[in-house]
Amino acid sequence: MEDLKEPKGKRAAQPRKKRKLISKDDEGISDIEDIFSDQETHKIRESLLEWYDHNQRDLPWRTKETNPLQAEDEDKEKRAYGVWVSEVMLQQTRVQTVIDYYNRWVLKWPTLQHLALASLEEVNEMWAGLGYYRRARFLLEGAKLITSKGDGFPNTVSSLRKVPGIGDYTAGAIASIAFKEVVPVVDGNVIRVLARLKAISANPKDSITVKNFWKLAAQLVDPCRPGDFNQSLMELGATVCTPSNPSCTQCPVLSHCRALSISNQDKSVLVTDYPTKVVKVKQRHEFSAVCVVEILGTEGLIEGDQSDGGFLLVKRPENGLLAGLWEFPTVNLGKAADLTTRRKEIDHFLKQVFRLDPQRTCSMVQREDIGEFVHIFTHIRLKVYVELLVMHLKGGMSELLSKNKKGATTWKYVDKQALSNLGLTSGVKKVYTMVEKFKLSKSSTDSAPAKRRKKFEETKSASIN
Ligand code: SF4
Repeated sequence: MEDLKEPKGKRAAQPRKKRKLISKDDEGISDIEDIFSDQETHKIRESLLEWYDHNQRDLPWRTKETNPLQAEDEDKEKRAYGVWVSEVMLQQTRVQTVIDYYNRWVLKWPTLQHLALASLEEVNEMWAGLGYYRRARFLLEGAKLITSKGDGFPNTVSSLRKVPGIGDYTAGAIASIAFKEVVPVVDGNVIRVLARLKAISANPKDSITVKNFWKLAAQLVDPCRPGDFNQSLMELGATVCTPSNPSCTQCPVLSHCRALSISNQDKSVLVTDYPTKVVKVKQRHEFSAVCVVEILGTEGLIEGDQSDGGFLLVKRPENGLLAGLWEFPTVNLGKAADLTTRRKEIDHFLKQVFRLDPQRTCSMVQREDIGEFVHIFTHIRLKVYVELLVMHLKGGMSELLSKNKKGATTWKYVDKQALSNLGLTSGVKKVYTMVEKFKLSKSSTDSAPAKRRKKFEETKSASIN
């Protein structure tokens, strides 16, 4: 449910049955937006709204107004806020996952005004695990901007588009669902349904095709119930007209579906041939070395349970990927690297940022290569090497902490409890889970000979008695 922009470098793959697909060009139709007749438009609206009234999923952000025509401004703004939060969360994330996040979010910040008072740190913590943290930051910035102007929630697409982070899709969803503006909404689900209804084989990622899908959706949108109609179209795509297994027999608009009609006439064509599949952008390969630095003997310097020592966390730069989020000390490697090279890079980083020198200022208790994993971002395939460093500081912690404010890198020192409360990104969580598992397996291996010795002593003692 991403705002649709033309992705760079994408091109359309050939349709599986190119010769059979009918596009607007094949039919000599000059404008894709002209292809629903008035009668067809009317019937599709009626069928979809009726289906939606009986089949919509019960989702927490779909609070019903008791009397939509007389809804108070306050109710509309609350609804707009709910639509905004849920739609941003739903971009790239499954509904089932979002429900829990959404409920926790509105419990903490029930209105836009509550959210505007939050800190970025709190918002990031709440968002942890959803990915695309920039969107959470935009939500916060948008809430601050709207409340600071004091003009109420923007209630049209054009005014909503002025809020940072609100694109065409989110603006259309808020304006139509909360404020009943007669505007369309186009996301991946809507494109799929429309492409099948009209058997459109043009590349759905192409900017001109996307524009035409918006025109087509605008033609269909119901003037009396625009929000419900938009949701019905999206709901149909999410639950019936699914990407690989559509339930055409259950579809309320099957009699208007050209893809189904073509498929019924020619078994070599499937409705799932629409929309045309596009070749995915090749992912960039990146490599990084992460070191989980655990410092022992810190009693009295950090809060919480210090039996496991504390951990160093570094704040990422305020721009770029995962901007402003906390992570374990990390070095970008540029290419795959062996352990010796990685250790050299990590030692250099620790010296530069923390003035930690494994040879001189610390006494190393444990240094272990924990393993590696691959973390996938949209355009990046990141290979992460993980190392654990457990150490005492020769000069004590106070010296390290006194250096904190001097460097260009922001970092902090936290205990285990604080670490789990921080709301870490899924990549950082993965690293920490690896370390915990490693420690657990190590402690059970270390204690195995002792257990065997104890068992032997007990057996010996029993046989003597
Ligand atoms: S008939 Fe099938 S392919 Fe056509 S819109 Fe309905 S579910 Fe989708």
